[in-house]
Amino acid sequence: MLRLPHFAVHRPGSVAEGLQILAAAPHARPLAGGTDLLVAMKHGHHTDADLVSLAGLGLSGIERSDSTLTVGAGTSLWDLMRRAWPDALGVVAEAARAVAAPPLQSRATVGGNVCLDTRCWFFNQSAFWRSGRPACLKAGGDRCHVVPGGSDCHAVSQADLPPVLIACGAQAEIAGADGSRDVPVEGLFSGDGRRPHTLSSAELLLRLRIPLPPPGAGAAYEKLRMRRALDFAAASAAVYLERRDGGCARARVVLGGLGTKPLRVPEAEAALEGTELDPRALAEAAEAAVAAARPVKNTDLTPAYRRKMAGVLVRRAALRAWTRAAGEES
Ligand SMILES: Cc1cc2nc3c(=O)[nH]c(=O)nc-3n(C[C@H](O)[C@H](O)[C@H](O)COP(=O)(O)OP(=O)(O)OC[C@H]3O[C@@H](n4cnc5c(N)ncnc54)[C@H](O)[C@@H]3O)c2cc1C
Ligand code: SF4
Repeated sequence: MLRLPHFAVHRPGSVAEGLQILAAAPHARPLAGGTDLLVAMKHGHHTDADLVSLAGLGLSGIERSDSTLTVGAGTSLWDLMRRAWPDALGVVAEAARAVAAPPLQSRATVGGNVCLDTRCWFFNQSAFWRSGRPACLKAGGDRCHVVPGGSDCHAVSQADLPPVLIACGAQAEIAGADGSRDVPVEGLFSGDGRRPHTLSSAELLLRLRIPLPPPGAGAAYEKLRMRRALDFAAASAAVYLERRDGGCARARVVLGGLGTKPLRVPEAEAALEGTELDPRALAEAAEAAVAAARPVKNTDLTPAYRRKMAGVLVRRAALRAWTRAAGEES
């Protein structure tokens, strides 16, 4: 049986108080829905952590202005799914629906998904299972069991919302001791499997701002996984397109589950822009996605298959985004 270690929970009543506790306690960690953090603790990670509950910080809710949708980090994925989105942003609910299953979606939050740790078949096992081998780099050891001899950790970014948020041009509001700052969601990811986010341990993600897309925009998300009902992405692709005068005026293409962070693919975007998404443009975008993918052998399915599927998923997502941009549901 997997047991939780003993831990303290702080329950701040404001963001300022929460930040103070995070800054004062070196091993404190924000606790949102707990659907990933508590599992990691049961697996013997972060066993010395004090948890700082975000439940009382008033971070839940979605607001719409003339130009932006603002989503609080504490909003549950379930609320995201039930929201009536403007057409081109329905993809956000699509990505939330792709996360786990309803019992988890009702507890899991947007902030927890964006700040989700990277994953690896070795690291995400029980302490007992892992004790058969020396600790790996991500667990404080000196070697990687996936890429032997390497000094980098290749744990994978498998969260579903980040590729979609990046494709939609979202900004993140971060709060720390020195006040708050806005960064593009893309800038939240470091690319280091050990410490995958650029947030310091004394900072909090407060909200996400998603610009309202212009008329003629469409977006779609595709996910490859072993079991449709539950599993993390073995590969995923988010595509956002703006359609003008019958052609593609703007494209954003982002891969998930294929590297240590969500991977934007500028070459795929360039292949689609200025075209009518003819077969040749789609083939070039798919080829660019295959070249950009960085799978290693630490999730379900082989790296070769996941790499190949990067192209397939980008092609599928681009076609659905194109249809949606034309005002036809797909
Ligand atoms: C069986 C199972 C299947 C799953 N399948 C998927 C899946 O298909 N796709 C997927 O994306 N995820 C999946 N998950 C992981 C997880 O449920 C989701 O990613 C969820 O959205 C995490 O949100 P949470 O609120 O529970 O985060 P928590 O577990 O509370 O936190 C996750 C991490 O984020 C940090 N954090 C949380 N909020 C903030 C904040 N506001 N500012 C700074 N740091 C913060 C925490 O400190 C922690 O490190 C699965 C989990 C399980 C158990
Ligand atoms: S990729 Fe290597 S270092 Fe990183 S978690 Fe997996 S085994 Fe550990």
